[in-house]
Amino acid sequence: MTRQNKTALIIGAGLQGCSIALFLAKAGWKVTLFDKNVAGRHASSVNAGGLRMLLRDWREYPLAQRAMWHWANLDQLVGAAAAKSCEVRLGVSQIALALDEAEMSWAISRAEDMARRNLGQEELLSRDAVRSLLPGVSGRALGGLISRADGHANPAAATRAFREACMAAGAQIVQNCQVQGLAPVGGGGWRVTTPTGNHEGGVLVNCGGAWGADVAAMAGQALPLRTVAPSMMVTARVQPFLGPVVIGIDRPLSFKQSAVGSLVIGGGILGKPCPERDTSFTVMDRMTQSAAATLEAFPALAHAPVLRTWTGLEGATPDGIPFIGPGPGTPDLWHVFGFCGHGFHLSPAVGESVAHSLVSGSLHPMLAPFGCNRFAHGANA
Ligand SMILES: Cc1cc2nc3c(=O)[nH]c(=O)nc-3n(C[C@H](O)[C@H](O)[C@H](O)COP(=O)(O)OP(=O)(O)OC[C@H]3O[C@@H](n4cnc5c(N)ncnc54)[C@H](O)[C@@H]3O)c2cc1C
Repeated sequence: MTRQNKTALIIGAGLQGCSIALFLAKAGWKVTLFDKNVAGRHASSVNAGGLRMLLRDWREYPLAQRAMWHWANLDQLVGAAAAKSCEVRLGVSQIALALDEAEMSWAISRAEDMARRNLGQEELLSRDAVRSLLPGVSGRALGGLISRADGHANPAAATRAFREACMAAGAQIVQNCQVQGLAPVGGGGWRVTTPTGNHEGGVLVNCGGAWGADVAAMAGQALPLRTVAPSMMVTARVQPFLGPVVIGIDRPLSFKQSAVGSLVIGGGILGKPCPERDTSFTVMDRMTQSAAATLEAFPALAHAPVLRTWTGLEGATPDGIPFIGPGPGTPDLWHVFGFCGHGFHLSPAVGESVAHSLVSGSLHPMLAPFGCNRFAHGANA
C-alpha cells in the first residue's frame, strides 16, 4: 500500500542516511536529515573504503551484490564528476590469505559452502597462485581465497558525493542538531524534538550509526548494539608492489597499497570507543598486533614507518549483520544501523532498498534477514 504522507525525517547524515535520502528525494519525497555533528563526520568518512564480496556473510550477499552494481555505475547516482572523485577501483580483487594449515582448511570449507549456496564469487587459491598474485608474500602463505571483482573507493569523497547528491535531489540537511526525543503523532507519523524545535514526518528513519540503539531507546525500543572503534594506520610510501587488498582469515590483517605507495592497514583491531564524547582513540598495544600480522604476511615491510593512526565509531550487533527495517510494532519508524564494519560497501543498496520499501509500502525481499525483531524473545534469530 503506498503512503499518502510522503515526508521522511532521517536521524543521522552519514552514508546510510544520505543514501536513503537520495533515493527518497528522487522518488519525490520531502526529506529532512538531522545530524548532531557535521554530516559524514563519523564512520562514513574515516573507514577503509573496502568494496568486498570476499568473506561476506551470505545473508548480506544479495544486498552486497546490488551495492557492487551501484559502485560500478556510481555516475548514475551521484553524477559523473562526483563519481570520478570517489576513486572507485573495482576488479583489483581482494585476497584472504591462509598463513597456516588451520586457515587453509577453513578457506577450503568456506569455498565449498559458498559453492553449495550457489554464491560463486570466491575462488580457492593454491600456494603458487598466491605467490604469483602477491609478490613478496611470506613463504608461510599456503593459499587463500580470492574475489576478483572486489576493490575499494575513497570513503571521504564518497560520503561527500552522496551528501551533495541527496541535497541536489531536494533533501535538506540540518547539521549540529541532535535529536533528543521521538514521539508518534496521532493519525500516523513521528515527531522529533531537537534544540531548535519539533519536526514531524510521515516516516522516521534512524540512521544513527554507533548511537543507533540510543535513538531506538528514545522510542522505547531496546535493540542490542555494542559500540566498537575499528582502527587504521597508514605507512610512509614504499615502492608499488601490491594490487589486491589482502585480508586475514584468523588474524588481524587487512591492508592495501594506495595509488601513492603508502600502505593502509586495518584488520579489525579495536580502539577505545567514547561515543558520549563523539570520539574514539587508538590503543597502541593493539595496533602493534596489526602491524605484526602485516609483517608475518609481508616480512619485507619491516622498515616501513607508520605515519598516522585513526579510529572511528561503529555499531556491532550480536550476529554481525545490521538492523534494517521497521521497529517492533512501529511501521513508520525504521532502524538502519549496526553495520558491524561492512556498511560502506552496502550503502547504495541500503538506500535503494529502504527507499523502495517505504515508497511501495512493502519490505524489499533483500532486507528480510535484517529484521529488528530477530533477537526478541521467541524469535528465530
Ligand atoms: C575504521 C573503520 C573502517 C571501516 N572499514 C570499512 C570498509 O572497508 N568497508 C565497509 O564496507 N565498511 C567499513 N566500515 C564501516 C562503515 O564505515 C560503516 O558501516 C558505515 O559508515 C555506517 O554508516 P552510517 O551512516 O550508518 O554511520 P555514521 O557514518 O556513523 O553516521 C551516523 C550519524 O548519525 C548521527 N547521529 C547519531 N545520533 C544522532 C542524534 N541523536 N541526532 C542527530 N544525529 C545523530 C551521527 O552524528 C553520525 O553522523 C569501517 C568503519 C570504521 C570505523
